[in-house]
Amino acid sequence: MKTYLIDLDGTMYSGNTNIDGAREFIAYLQEKGFPYIFLTNNATRTKTQAKEHMLNLGFKNIKEDDFFTSAIATAKYIAKNYSERKCFMIGESGLEEALKEENFIFVEDKADFVVVGLDRKANYTKYSEALHHILAGAKFIATNSDRLLANNGLFDLGNGATVNMLEYASGVEAIKVGKPYQTILNILLEDKNLKKEDIILLGDNLETDIKLGYEGNIETIMVCSGVHDENDIERLKVYPTKVIKNLRELIKE
Ligand SMILES: [Mg+2]
Repeated sequence: MKTYLIDLDGTMYSGNTNIDGAREFIAYLQEKGFPYIFLTNNATRTKTQAKEHMLNLGFKNIKEDDFFTSAIATAKYIAKNYSERKCFMIGESGLEEALKEENFIFVEDKADFVVVGLDRKANYTKYSEALHHILAGAKFIATNSDRLLANNGLFDLGNGATVNMLEYASGVEAIKVGKPYQTILNILLEDKNLKKEDIILLGDNLETDIKLGYEGNIETIMVCSGVHDENDIERLKVYPTKVIKNLRELIKE
C-alpha cells in the first residue's frame, strides 16, 4: 500500500473553503487504513494550527503528526547537514516552532543561518537585517519558493518573492527546501522511513507538487481543483501520472 503525500491548499481546501470531495477522500483513506501525510509548502502554521484549521473545515480525525511542512523539513535539513545552531529567522510561528524543535537559537548578531519563510508582518528593516547576515557569510536557506499565495480570490506575494528579493540584493542564491525541490522529499523519506516507490504525490500545482514527482520519478496525481488544470500540462511540460477533476474519483468501494 502506497502512502499518499497530500498537498493542502488547492487540494484539500482553498483558504477557508473546503474543496469538494476532499473530506470524503480523507474519510475514505481513514476507513480503509490507507496511509497518508499532508505535505505542504506552507511554513506559517504550526502542526497544532494546521490540525485546527482542518478540523474547523469539517475534516475528522486529523492529528498533528499527519503534517510535514516545508518549515519542518527546513529545520531537519539544517540540523542534519550543519553543526551550528544560531539563526536569524524571517517567518511565522510554524517556522519558529520547527526550528526550536531542532534546538536552533534565534540571534540578532553573528547568525550562522538566515532562514526565510513566509512572514506576513516582516518589513524593510527585517529584510535588510537578513541581508546584512547573508552578506556577512550566513548561509541563506529558504523554506520554499512559491511565487504566489492565494488569498480570497486574489494572489498575494509568496515566499519565493521575498527569497528572490534577497537573492537579488545579496547576489547569493538560497538553498531551497520545499516542493519542487527534492530536499523536502528526501528529508521526509528518511524521517518516515519510506522509499520513493512507496509514495504517491497528490496535488494541484504542476510547478511544485507534480514537478517534484515528475523530476524524481515518483507517481503523481494532479487534481484540477487549484491553480492548474490539464491545459497547463503542455505549456509547463510537467507531466502527472494521472489527472483527476475531483478526489472522489480516487474512492473505490
Ligand atoms: Mg496546492
